Formats: sequence, structure tokens, C-alpha cells
Amino acid sequence: MLCCSLNSGSNGNCIYVEAEGVRLLFDAGISGRQAAGRLATHGRDIRAVDAVIVSHDHADHARCAGIYARLFNLPIYMTPLTHQAAQQSCNVGQIADLRHFRAGQALHIGQVSIEAVATPHDAAEPVAFVVSAKRRRLGILTDLGCVFDALPGIIAGLDALYLESNYDPDMLESGPYPPYLKRRIAGRHGHLSNFEAAELVLRHAHDRLQWVSLAHLSEVNNTPDLARRTHHDIVGPRRAVYVSDRYAASSILQVE
Ligand SMILES: [Zn+2]
Ligand SMILES: [Zn+2]
Repeated sequence: MLCCSLNSGSNGNCIYVEAEGVRLLFDAGISGRQAAGRLATHGRDIRAVDAVIVSHDHADHARCAGIYARLFNLPIYMTPLTHQAAQQSCNVGQIADLRHFRAGQALHIGQVSIEAVATPHDAAEPVAFVVSAKRRRLGILTDLGCVFDALPGIIAGLDALYLESNYDPDMLESGPYPPYLKRRIAGRHGHLSNFEAAELVLRHAHDRLQWVSLAHLSEVNNTPDLARRTHHDIVGPRRAVYVSDRYAASSILQVE
């Protein structure tokens, strides 16, 4: 399995995964031109993507789903409530090939399965994903809300992991956001901090976890260096850690 974050953060999310001849995009938060261009830099054609799978209705994940469908003729997978909410909040428009899935269920595309895990994030019907192919399991775990009950068990079963590491608590506290937004981000339906992400990996990751790519970093309340340093301080130097870029495609990561 190989994967590549095309963009990660509140400005737009999109992750490409390829396994067993199946090509998937998770989320559609960057423009069609950006997604196609960034895939092309890695020699991939967006028109060859088999499925675009949307995690929840927030604009940074769903806003361009309709555009990918219309420009590139791609099938779009969403839960019914995510579709309804995304039509209202980001007007995704006509999707010719819309396929519904449900939180808690697994999708099967070729030899790849995708489990959609319900999360307590503050969207209509939010999910995170575990992608499995040939006994390898990749987690795409962002916009998690909080460390919910099922999360440690999910992390324990992974070979590689995109993990939300949204904010540094001191930067959030002393930063410019209004109090209601600070409460939302740090609350039970917002985002995970650098510390929460690192503690999850320290306590629950199996020895076979090959790498973690820290994802969905806040521009205002975090920095890539700080997220990486916090992770390193808590987890130690033994595990490979990357940071998914807010403005560019990251390099391709393999899950071996
Ligand atoms: Zn988000
Ligand atoms: Zn969200």
C-alpha cells in the first residue's frame, strides 16, 4: 500500500491511497485543479481514481466533492446525513454517481476494505477510516473530537497512521481565537492536541506501526516543528514521524 497527503488542515484535506490496483481519495477539501496537479506530480491521474470517500460535511473535507464528480467523473461515497449536510453547508451540487455508506460499516472496493468508524466530532455524521489491504492496515484518523472509547483499540491494530495533531494547548490558550472557538477546539467534539496524539501512539500503538504522519495541524495554534517535537519527546525517537503539509503534497509513504 502507498499513500500521500495532498493537503492537510482546516484549509482543505485530501489523502490519496493506492493498494491492490485500487486508487482512493479520502476527502475532497482542495480544488479539483489542486488535487489533479498534486497527484500528477507523483505520476498519478486523478481520472483513474476509483472512489472519493468523504469523512464528514465540514467544508475542509467535503467542499469539492461535487467538483471532483463533475470534472473527473468520479464516484463519491458519503453517508446519507453527510450528503444532506454538505448540500446545505457547502452546496456540493449534482453528483451523478453518489454511493452511500454508513458509519460503523465496511466498504469493499476491489481487494481493499475501508472501515468507517463513527467519531464524536461536531459534524452531521462524522467518520474516520481504517483502510485494509493484504493484511496491512492504515488509519486515517482526523477530526476525531476527543479520545473516544474505541480509539485505542483501533490504533493498536494499525501498520501506519495519519493522526490528527491539531493544536498546542498553550498556543491555543494564549492565541487570538475567541473563547467559544477555543472551547470548541479543545472540547469533546473538536480536535486532538499534540499531546493527546502523542499519548495515543505511546500507549496504544503496536510495535508493527511503521510510521505516523501528524495531520490537520492548525496554522494559528500549532507549528510543524512543535508538533514533531512534542511527538518525539513523548513517543521517543524509535518511531518514524512525518508531518502532513498544509499547502502541498507530502512525499509518498509506503506501508510495507
Ligand atoms: Zn477538518
Ligand atoms: Zn471537521
